[in-house]
Amino acid sequence: MHRFFIPPEWVKGERVSLTGEPAHQIVHVLRLKPKDHIILLDNSGWEYEVEIDQIGPGLIQGKVIGKCLSATEPRVKVTLCQALLRTEKFEFILQKGVELGVSAFVPFVSERCVVRRPGENKLARWQKIIQEAAEQSGRALLPALHPVIAFREACDSVHGASLLLWEEEKSLSLSRILKESAFQASLSFNVFVGPEGGFPPSEVAYAESRGIVPVSLGQRILRAETAGLAVIVAFLYERGELG
Ligand code: SAM
Repeated sequence: MHRFFIPPEWVKGERVSLTGEPAHQIVHVLRLKPKDHIILLDNSGWEYEVEIDQIGPGLIQGKVIGKCLSATEPRVKVTLCQALLRTEKFEFILQKGVELGVSAFVPFVSERCVVRRPGENKLARWQKIIQEAAEQSGRALLPALHPVIAFREACDSVHGASLLLWEEEKSLSLSRILKESAFQASLSFNVFVGPEGGFPPSEVAYAESRGIVPVSLGQRILRAETAGLAVIVAFLYERGELG
């Protein structure tokens, strides 16, 4: 069944009214008809099964026939703090991170970033990529896209178990750190991934001073979009969130 995130105020008791983009998709893209069922999500964790009963120009109405708490969210809140990258790479990370279960994205600018901060249009496009990936993957909550901030601000903003991926790290490996009690028990997990040019030692030192642990992913140098997703998979697998 097709899923759509909608503003909570569109659901009024047993009735729901849809306008705008969801209505356009239902009528012109999916060509759904009265009696068809859809799933609506109001970003509270609840999902509503709705039977369409009226289709008008730019307005869809339906009856709520079921409501349940969605079971698709991970029990741990993963935040991916990602240095700005070239657009197609950054958008790939957004889409795959949502599918895997990331709860929040914190884009940051670090010393070796080579791209400009995104404008309003690009931020809106990123928000759309997140929403479409969340609907496609059956998420119950829309992952947050935080405003672009400076690297040090991002380091100052995180709490709980936090890692910084650094290919120059020689002692601490991911497999070891994920087995440490602080990471085993933590309900939130933050991971920092650098830009194409990596993190200079000064940024690694600042992160360490904020309790963010530099960790190696082994001898191979991964692209940023590979590294971040690899850690997310490893962490979620370790926590039993990937089947
Ligand atoms: N210094 C790298 C080079 O020589 O190509 C550039 C950085 S790498 C392309 C992009 C980011 O991926 C790094 O900032 C780091 O966060 C992460 N990364 C890549 N390989 C890694 C590894 N083996 N261990 C830890 N982090 C890694």
